[in-house]
Amino acid sequence: MAGVTISQSNPQALPRVAVVAPDVEVYDTLAVYCPLCGQALEEWGTPRVPTTLLAPTFEADEVPVFGYRCPHHRREDVIVPAPAVIAPESYRRVEATLDGVDELTVALPPVIDDE
Ligand SMILES: [Zn+2]
Repeated sequence: MAGVTISQSNPQALPRVAVVAPDVEVYDTLAVYCPLCGQALEEWGTPRVPTTLLAPTFEADEVPVFGYRCPHHRREDVIVPAPAVIAPESYRRVEATLDGVDELTVALPPVIDDE
């Protein structure tokens, strides 16, 4: 019987995480594009980003932010925080520093257990 290889993972092969500033075309539509490949990003979620990018100090090494994970990159995890203006009201706004953008306001889900 043929086995199914589920995992080819080893620690060295884990994808690199790249957190990049969103490319927002027009604020009318608030369409957000991946700055690396130019693809429109549609399914938002709460990918985790390293807290070293965020202005406030967090206990955790990474926290979820309102944003996207671009599905078009195989070698790395490309995370694109969404502009905070399109985040739900209840989300917490914090400043982030990403490559090429000094200050970008990103939104964190309201429920984060710091423990
Ligand atoms: Zn992309």
